[in-house]
Amino acid sequence: MSPPDAAAPRSGLVVIVGRPNVGKSTLLNRLVGEKVAIVSRKPQTTRNRILGVVNRPGGQIVLFDTPGIHKPQHEMNERMVGAAIRTLAQVELALWLVDVTQAPGPGDAFVRERLAAAGRPVLLGINKIDRVPKPRILPAIDSYRAMHDFLEIVPLSALTGDNVELLAERLLAHLPEGEPLYPPDYLTDQPERFLAAEMVRERILEHTREELPYSVGVIVDSFEELPRLVRIHASVLVERPGQKAILIGKGGTMLKRVGSEAREQIEGLLGAKVYLGLFVKVRPRWREDPKLLDEVGLERR
Ligand code: GDP
Ligand code: MG
Repeated sequence: MSPPDAAAPRSGLVVIVGRPNVGKSTLLNRLVGEKVAIVSRKPQTTRNRILGVVNRPGGQIVLFDTPGIHKPQHEMNERMVGAAIRTLAQVELALWLVDVTQAPGPGDAFVRERLAAAGRPVLLGINKIDRVPKPRILPAIDSYRAMHDFLEIVPLSALTGDNVELLAERLLAHLPEGEPLYPPDYLTDQPERFLAAEMVRERILEHTREELPYSVGVIVDSFEELPRLVRIHASVLVERPGQKAILIGKGGTMLKRVGSEAREQIEGLLGAKVYLGLFVKVRPRWREDPKLLDEVGLERR
């Protein structure tokens, strides 16, 4: 075998894991350079595993975004956490992302246990450094360093982009030499109709509160590519009539707002004019219903 060549491209699979809301999806989008995962201030926004391809001069990182790892309560959450854990077994290395504004706690111990059990090398990303004064970063690094034998620790901000390129470089450095696994224009495995459903769900998360965001599921019923228009009909599932009333809003204002914002996002994604029809349906306990969970795109355990 010839000695490793510094200029040879590298490639491999990396999974981002961490507690809910630490910025995993924000980081994926920034690294990919396109919105392939929805983002919100509410925990448990990401419900399935999302593949994003990161192309850099040094090679290609095939990056998986996963639902936050937490102790599951629902069948839905079981599936979500399961998606994160299963992915760990399939990758070269794990990127554990934490939030610098939160001290390590039991939630992190839970993630660490899962990582240790999977036995993959781990790089730690300490995110949201834009939110704290610089002197607070070093003590955070020290407290995490004591928890696990990390390959490296990189403080960063997925939101501002600070140190994100350094992170990409460091991830690549730990991947084996190899040709890109995907062509350069292939950015995600998420079908367009699923991304459209996710954008509707993101707008609902943005505009509603309390338990409603967690009770919502979106299913694209039809997706027709017409000559000058993409026509999409989607069902929005809620669990109770009261939730349906909130989602529709006075005189339909809430649903109109969600619909027009989602439509704009989907038009950006597809690069085409979009008609978006939304229908709100009450489906009690849909989050326990295997068939409906399949339809909203949640992987089986
Ligand atoms: P996930 O649940 O880990 O995927 O987290 P998201 O990517 O959905 O982000 C959760 C929230 O944190 C959103 O409101 C993001 O805008 C915010 N966020 C993510 N990264 C950063 C960051 O680097 N700095 C700040 N200030 N906020 C961030
Ligand atoms: Mg997410």
